[in-house]
Amino acid sequence: NPFGQRKKGKEGYAHIRDPTEDFYLRRMYGRIVDCWNRPISSAPDAWFDVMDRKRIKEPSGQDVAEIVNTGTSTRCLNLASYNYLGFAASDPYCTPQVVDTIGQLGVSGCSPRVLGGTTVAHTELEDLVAQYLNVEAAITYGMGFATNSSTIPALVGKGCLILSDSLNHSSIVAGARQSGAKIKVFRHNDAKHLDALLRQSIADGQPRSHRPWKKVLVIVEGVYSMEGEACNLKDVVAVSKRHRAYIYLDEAHSIGALGGTGRGCCEHWGVDPRDIDIMMGTFTKSFGSCGGYIAGKKPVIDFLRRHSPAHLYACAMAPGCVKQVTAALQVVMGLDGTGRGAAKVQQLHDNANYTRARLLEMGLDALGSWDSPVMPIMTYSPAKMVALSRELLQRRMAMVIVGFPATPLLLTRSRICISAAHSREDLDWALEQLDELATLCNLRHGNTALKAH
Ligand code: PMP
Repeated sequence: NPFGQRKKGKEGYAHIRDPTEDFYLRRMYGRIVDCWNRPISSAPDAWFDVMDRKRIKEPSGQDVAEIVNTGTSTRCLNLASYNYLGFAASDPYCTPQVVDTIGQLGVSGCSPRVLGGTTVAHTELEDLVAQYLNVEAAITYGMGFATNSSTIPALVGKGCLILSDSLNHSSIVAGARQSGAKIKVFRHNDAKHLDALLRQSIADGQPRSHRPWKKVLVIVEGVYSMEGEACNLKDVVAVSKRHRAYIYLDEAHSIGALGGTGRGCCEHWGVDPRDIDIMMGTFTKSFGSCGGYIAGKKPVIDFLRRHSPAHLYACAMAPGCVKQVTAALQVVMGLDGTGRGAAKVQQLHDNANYTRARLLEMGLDALGSWDSPVMPIMTYSPAKMVALSRELLQRRMAMVIVGFPATPLLLTRSRICISAAHSREDLDWALEQLDELATLCNLRHGNTALKAH
């Protein structure tokens, strides 16, 4: 890239240094963050209140101006949060249970799981997650990021091989690096390249006990958060099984969102969940809470209970957050007896597919797969980032602008996150605004190679 910041010999965007190290990027990002990284003062529902800010100092050479909240806020359409199923705001089934739980168990366990931090709510949730995913057992963690960064080093280490998709999340990159395993990065969603790397690394059909690697772990995501694209899971599973490699699937953006009943990428593609050795996911997206989980075979989960640092040494998930997920899962699984959960998943798919089809019709380059709630619109030019972020805010549209180093410099984009909470009127209004912005910022590239699939 023009700044020469990609570290030599490393692949993947997360390997690039922080933009604040660069003078020009620091100034540009300061202005973008000024627009969309404002505090919100209401729950992240279909609409939310975004604090108004003012500049109190002019830029002085090196740094951006100091910006403060004015005390007032503007109601904006929320196309930024990962509130896929609309559970993040108050819910008639979940919220009363969360309030009761906080009354009974307090706000925090103030302790790791193994030192008195495990409550009845934790064990109830772990059983429910395993039941939902149709696997033997599950373990929960206080943070999704730490779920990856602490589980991967617990499972693999020196003498092991990790094959990681080039667009894997920074928490996976952190865990893989910390593990000390040899890391090979395959081209994004390219099962052929994965196959080629595995062939280079292990002879065909070699039994696990005769290989140069203690363990071989393939790590992919269900939906890639900057691309909106579903993992090519069938091919990844076929290739990994052929080479007897373990599969680690991060479902942060696909659990609750993909598949007819929200069971994620396996359900979306018709893959047997028992073919996935480690199913990872977070509660911060579809379930409107905090925390993460690992699900799979009982011996693996028992092993993590004994060896995973985020389980042994970090505070357990807060009981109110645990209850929020349990209640939301019960709704999604239809255990509340209303059928609301199935309708929410269907609504999410309808909203996502409607918006994606309209964006493509408008000639915008909207990336991603059908049913996926993540929809990046390519802007390509970093120069458009500041103007676009300002225009979006002025039009009361909260949308995330993503650029280097989260993406390569010339693959800058603006990302929409769709929710089941959005009404058709909300989406039509947003599409009208985006149509005007497409003309204003010259965004109609009509790149047919990027058609949704
Ligand atoms: N994995 C992926 C793929 C993610 O996108 C994220 C965050 N968006 C995480 C893990 C970390 O999850 P959390 O935000 O719940 O800590």
